[in-house]
Amino acid sequence: MNRCELKWIDDKTLQISGTIDEYFSFDPVIERLVGEIWIDLSEVKRINSCGVREWIKVISKSQARLHYRQCSSVIVSQFSMIPEFLGPFGQVESFETQYVCPHCGHEDSLLLVVGKDIAAGQDSYEHSPEMTCRECGDKMECDHNPELYFSFLRDAA
Ligand SMILES: [Zn+2]
Repeated sequence: MNRCELKWIDDKTLQISGTIDEYFSFDPVIERLVGEIWIDLSEVKRINSCGVREWIKVISKSQARLHYRQCSSVIVSQFSMIPEFLGPFGQVESFETQYVCPHCGHEDSLLLVVGKDIAAGQDSYEHSPEMTCRECGDKMECDHNPELYFSFLRDAA
């Protein structure tokens, strides 16, 4: 079982890894979630409804300016389905997007930096940034529905 771990990488950067479920709690770090904080979510593998509830309970009331970086696709799906998940002052800095090659089946992921690789505040997100297959050189396809997956960016400007 892959329990959740919260670890401070530096003064202002919290890394959350593992599974966000009924055992997950912000309690051990909540006093430090003030001011400007970065949260690294690259290692979040799974989240369930109990985890979502605990997350929103804390984040929706947080006055901190939270910057989410390297968000895994599990987390991005939450951003897009549940706007409160970001919190009132939360911003996504960078996030993972999965691709699959239609030619050879190779799967890969790309880290997209908001404002650099993909713009916030667009009316629609029909197209994902391009990725070339490192196995065969073909153009890869986004493994998500871009319109849904990137929808959290619409209001993120
Ligand atoms: Zn390929």
